[in-house]
This record gives sequence, structure tokens and C-alpha cells, in this order.
Amino acid sequence: MRTILQVDKLTKRFDPEAPPVVNDVSFDVEDGEIFALLGPSGCGKTTTLRCIAGFEAADAGSIVLQQRMLTGPGVHVPPEQRGVGLVFQDFALFPHLTVLENVMFGLPEKPKPEREQRAREALKMVGLEGFGDRVPHHLSGGQQQRVALARTLAPQPGLILLDEPFSNLDALLRQGTRQEVRTLLKEQGMSAVLVTHDQEEALSFADRIGVMRHGQIEQVGTPEAVYYQPRTLFVAQFLGRTNLLLSQAAGCEADTPLGRVSLNRSAEGTVLLSLRPEHLTLEAPDHGVGPVGEIVGRAFKGHDITYEVECDGSQYLVHTHNRMPYHPGDSVAIRPLESAVVLESRTTPRDVPTGAVEQVEG
Ligand code: ATP
Repeated sequence: MRTILQVDKLTKRFDPEAPPVVNDVSFDVEDGEIFALLGPSGCGKTTTLRCIAGFEAADAGSIVLQQRMLTGPGVHVPPEQRGVGLVFQDFALFPHLTVLENVMFGLPEKPKPEREQRAREALKMVGLEGFGDRVPHHLSGGQQQRVALARTLAPQPGLILLDEPFSNLDALLRQGTRQEVRTLLKEQGMSAVLVTHDQEEALSFADRIGVMRHGQIEQVGTPEAVYYQPRTLFVAQFLGRTNLLLSQAAGCEADTPLGRVSLNRSAEGTVLLSLRPEHLTLEAPDHGVGPVGEIVGRAFKGHDITYEVECDGSQYLVHTHNRMPYHPGDSVAIRPLESAVVLESRTTPRDVPTGAVEQVEG
């Protein structure tokens, strides 16, 4: 795969007294890849996107798109000359222009018949061929989002930047539109950078994710890698609920409050481990090899059940299929199904309580 975008050691600060808002951020995007910057509010993802778009000048670092330096020492290509398309949260459609005119608006420097043809082609790409004469408020939210996308695609940009593009759609429409937009970008072979604070959106929409916190990228990887193999406590917690185990590691195994478990990588001494609720299961106490606990909570969710189990003063979350027959008050043994993940903790592992931890809000 060819690298299309290289962001290298990008740094941006607004307040000289405060730490940079974007602090030494580096990542690459491959040709045809959808890359998501995921992180909580204020972590610097929009500022990173605005630096790529050229709306913000960087203090240090470089941005290279299709082998052309857009941002670098003494270089700042203006936004309109970057060959980058933008899709915003509010769609930014002109209410008094028709759908066709809105799409043509993205193609100002060409003769009108050429612009019209290109705009019609772009509307066809997004499945809105017959909608050119309507005004935006006669379309559904999902259709308006597709018009915004058609306007961005029409000038054939080298890269598309999507800033929380689905957050104005209601939950049901959001999921469908997300899937449609992903399919469309893939059909067109477009490369894109998505900014979002929504874990599920990043996991289902992107090919790779950069998880950001305090202006830095903590981990880059496929959705599976960042979810199943989080490198840090923050990544483990930001991508979902998990169980933390303060343990003594010796090579590929560790002694934990849930008994001896295998590890995803070799480690020595005191370590903090993460085990997702679906990587644990429950057994009758006489069958289990793990320690015995008591069910203290049960959330039946149709296709699955999440149990809260108290064991030696700590609570653990165990996510099982919907046929597990346990109820509050039952004694159970907890058994890990997968290797535990060794976290690179930036705090002293001793500061972190053992047991279930909730997902950090985005
Ligand atoms: P959100 O999801 O809430 O938009 P974000 O991760 O995209 O968050 P940014 O918008 O990049 O975060 O903002 C990062 C930090 O930089 C915030 O503390 C914000 O207040 C600050 N910031 C952003 N733009 C400016 C600006 N023009 N001047 C001063 N501070 C700014």
C-alpha cells in the first residue's frame, strides 16, 4: 500500500503558557484507507484535522499529502490549494440553493456545463440522482449528509476530512448513514481522516484508529488491535468496559486475583492487566478452577447477559451468551477465556483498584 498522508511530529499550541493542544502527533494514512482520530472532548483531534486542512498553522512538524509538503518549516499551503475535501457536522448546505447548485458550489473555477455534469456525477455516486432540483430542507438528515459528501467528492480531492459528520443524525439514521458513507468511500477508493469521540463509530467506520489523549496519540492500530490489545490503561478504558487485575507476572503467565492467567506478552514483576468482560466466563463452583465469587448483579440484554460478580472484595464484569442460568446470590467460579493484556501503566499500578472499570465517556 502507498502512503498518501504523512503527519510527522505535528505540534500546535494556542497558549504559550500551556502545554501544546497537539503535541508531537505522528501518523500515516494509506491510499484508500479510512483513518479515525478518536479521543475525548478537548484532546486535540479537531485541531489536528484543522492543521491538515490548513485552517491552522502548525508550530512544528510537517504534513505531506501525495508527496507534496503542505505544512513544514517555512511552508504553509493555503486551505484552497491543498486538494483536501471537508465534511462537517452541520453539513453546511446552503438552504436557498438546490441540491445540484450546492454540489456545483464546490467546483467554482470550471465552466458551468462542466460543473453541472461533474455535480450530477457526484450526486449519482451518492445515490441521489433524481434529487438535484430539491432544496436541502426537503431531504432527510441522511440524504443531506450525502449531498454534503457529493459536494466534497465532486472536485476529486486527494483526501477527505470528516469532522464528527454523523453526530447531527439520530441514533438509527446514524448507523445506516455511517455504513453507506463507508461503502461509498471504499467504492471510490477515497482516503479519509475521521474525527470522532464515539468509540463505536470509530470501531465500525475506520480501517485504523489513532487513540488521542491530552494532545498525543497513545496507540495506533486496527479496531481489533486497539480494542483487544490496548497498550495503556486509558486506551483499555476508553474503548469499552474492562476488568483490571493487579498481578505478579513471571514470563508469559501471572498470578492474579482470578488465579493464574496467560499473558499477551512476556512481563516481570507487578503489572496491571486488562481482561474484557467477554473474555471471562462463569462456571458452577465445583467445576471451576478459578476462585469462587457471588453474583451481585445481572443485566439481561436479549442476545447477551452481563453479570457483576463479587470476589474477594472486588467486583468483576462477565459478559456471557443469553443461556447462562445464574442469578444474584448464586456462587460461581470465574474463568478467563483469553490471555490477559499487560498494560503500560503511566501511573503506579498500585494506584489502580482491581476489578471492573467503566468505560471513560467520550
Ligand atoms: P471536541 O471533540 O470537543 O471538539 P477536540 O478533541 O476536537 O474536542 P480541539 O477542538 O482540538 O479538541 O481542542 C483542543 C483544545 O484546544 C481545547 O482545550 C480547546 O479549548 C483548545 N482550542 C481549540 N481551538 C482553539 C483556539 N482557536 N484558540 C484557543 N484554544 C483553542
